[in-house]
Amino acid sequence: MSLGDNIHCHMKTIEDISLSGRRVFVRVDFNVPFDEKGQVSDTTRIVAALPTIQYLIHQGAKVILASHLGRPDGEKNLKYSLAPVAKVLSELLKQPVLFLPDCIGTDVQRAVQALGNGEISLLENVRFYKEETDNDENFSKELAKLADAYVNDAFGTAHRAHASTAGITKFLSPKVAGFLMGRELEFLGKKTAHPERPFTVILGGAKVSDKISVIDALLDRADNMIIGGAMAYTFLFAQRHRTGNSLLEPDKVDIALAAIQKAKQKNVNLLLPVDSVITDLVDFETRTLGTLQTVGLDIPENMIGIDIGTKSVELFSKIIQQSKTILFNGPMGIFEIKDAAKGTFSIADAIAKNREAISIIGGGDSIKAINESGHGKDVTFISTGGGASLEFLEGKILPGVDALDK
Ligand code: AMP
Repeated sequence: MSLGDNIHCHMKTIEDISLSGRRVFVRVDFNVPFDEKGQVSDTTRIVAALPTIQYLIHQGAKVILASHLGRPDGEKNLKYSLAPVAKVLSELLKQPVLFLPDCIGTDVQRAVQALGNGEISLLENVRFYKEETDNDENFSKELAKLADAYVNDAFGTAHRAHASTAGITKFLSPKVAGFLMGRELEFLGKKTAHPERPFTVILGGAKVSDKISVIDALLDRADNMIIGGAMAYTFLFAQRHRTGNSLLEPDKVDIALAAIQKAKQKNVNLLLPVDSVITDLVDFETRTLGTLQTVGLDIPENMIGIDIGTKSVELFSKIIQQSKTILFNGPMGIFEIKDAAKGTFSIADAIAKNREAISIIGGGDSIKAINESGHGKDVTFISTGGGASLEFLEGKILPGVDALDK
């Protein structure tokens, strides 16, 4: 079964159900970072949930928001309280948000019963109960008691079967996707399963082992597959090139060879770097490098490949320019260190410049690179789910999505 025909692409959304006067439990992803003063330091995830929340308000729903925050390990630890998020959300919506200091129990039930149409409440961190991650049935029932309908807008946690993402749906109906979830399914699902061609996949990062399944699944769909970052050295090593002291997974050579073979069979143009920026020293702590040099396909002994070279950038950019669909996941080098970041940023540039193509960016590092390059607004879609995006692209069924009405 190809992903495009997959049930994931035919989920009901909030536009398919009546919401007026209904108590709606909305699982969002408000797992935001905080600064030393305990203030929310990045509101991206809160802003991303606004379209769904605003739609529910306008439809006259009684909105009950639920999220996890950090890893309180099943204990009520106020360091992980969602109270500061309620404040930020209220400022963004210009409307009061009733923060409830628990997520289950009679007090919470009473408080949500009293909500008026178009009013909003935010429950305390669902991970204050270990039953959340255990997907406990009773806890799921308690959550379900709060509402008459369920909305999942937290794609980033959809690959986990937890009480608020999966268990609760056994006891609540209807259960539908929010706008953010809908867009993730559309871009990572439909747009890559039936892509406008040529479809170019750009994968990078540290390890082949993390991306084996995604490489395999995307070789079934792509026209071009570009592999950069340290991952590329395992492929080059498999082709008997010298890789010096570069990050390498010698035990994954067979996998690299199998991918090269599959690319041939499927007529996928698999591109590896033709040159690398190398150095004799990488110090991650001080973010410094030794002397830099660019070499071709072979890296001398004791030297480390840290980025793709300019010839590779040119070669990859040309392919990117000609593409109609582009998926970018993983950096081309050690982009955290300025002198090893040029390849990643150049690829981000090339993607942003192709305004004709549908460009989809996934994975924390690639998103950071695209945003830091100032091109965040020039790409078509930035995925909010790290692990969930990869699992979805692999073709895995995500429990949080599978649980929704089709
Ligand atoms: P991943 O988590 O697998 O997406 O990998 C991201 C990490 O890969 C980043 O922290 C990069 O610094 C690292 N990376 C990319 N290219 C290289 C390289 N040539 N050598 C070492 N690390 C790399």
